[in-house]
Amino acid sequence: MTIQPRSQVGVSQGYHSPQVDVRIRLNTNESPYPPPQELMERWAKGVAALSLNRYPDRHATKLCEDIAKFHNVPAEMVFVGNGSNEVLQSILLSYGGNGTTAMSFEPTYAMYETISRVTDTRYVPLERNASLLIEPGGLAERVNAIAPSVVFLCVPNNPTGMIETSEVANILLARRGSLVVIDEAYGQFCDQSVVDLVASNSNLVVVRTFSKIWSLAGMRIGYCIANKEIIETLWNVALPYHLDSSKALIGSLSFDYIAEMEARVASLVSERNRISFELEKLDVDTWPSATNFILFRPRIRDSGELWLKLVERGILIRDWSKWPRLENCLRVTVGTEQENDEFLLALREEL
Ligand SMILES: *Cc1c(COP(=O)(O)O)cnc(C)c1O
Repeated sequence: MTIQPRSQVGVSQGYHSPQVDVRIRLNTNESPYPPPQELMERWAKGVAALSLNRYPDRHATKLCEDIAKFHNVPAEMVFVGNGSNEVLQSILLSYGGNGTTAMSFEPTYAMYETISRVTDTRYVPLERNASLLIEPGGLAERVNAIAPSVVFLCVPNNPTGMIETSEVANILLARRGSLVVIDEAYGQFCDQSVVDLVASNSNLVVVRTFSKIWSLAGMRIGYCIANKEIIETLWNVALPYHLDSSKALIGSLSFDYIAEMEARVASLVSERNRISFELEKLDVDTWPSATNFILFRPRIRDSGELWLKLVERGILIRDWSKWPRLENCLRVTVGTEQENDEFLLALREEL
């Protein structure tokens, strides 16, 4: 007899983006730029001096203070995890689970559904409108009918790249009995945030990550900002010493390089606008992006075939064509200027 996992765990393969060994990787929205060399050197020296025989500071006090300062909030409003996915998981371990419901607006980030399932939280998707935006009309009624414990709202949304109107967040936040989790993984690319609303909305949680703008996807650092009671709950649910001391160190050091981060973001935004402009001239439909990626749909070519042709040319993008509502859609992450040139040239030729 084989031992079976819980039914929620066994049914699907979990999240993964196919990785192929290619020259140009534009498939997972990472930064194409490494962190500053000086930061890496200071971190390496700092790691060599750590007392690794001792447990780390359990609440990563310094890192939380630095994050708090960056967002101009008190440190007691910050919880940090190993990537924002772990933050999302901690939220559902605290506020989801058996007998509760989480909801989001499809198509959106797949982890909301996946983490709901593994934490035994019922997941109810609402559909976006034909433009892949959330329709504010009738939204309050639709959400009330679901009565979710947790609402996930990704702004700007992955994989569509678009921003919702502030009306949508306001309608959701008005339901005081639901925790509203706004995932701002790409917030810096549109210079827009709802962090300022946390003080006046005790049910708002804003989630951010070091994976994209800070060029630290490999370090796994994410955090959320919320009122003190929520933050205390998340620290109680997290495993003791879940953040290692080398991670807390690089996170803190990063804030000495804010200007460099802003320069990377500015260059990616300008490249994104250039790619969008070039895509307009080709036989594809695109959606306006406020992020570091662009969703597009070839009008005539089959997306699967096109994806493979690009892989053969050493360029990996993401195929979304199997997703409901995203038939024949592909998503390209903004890379360096040279990578983007190669992508555009290959796409132009293959189309
Ligand atoms: C990339 C991404 C994240 C980041 O996850 P990490 O665990 O912090 O790497 C979170 N949310 C969305 C919508 C993303 O696209």
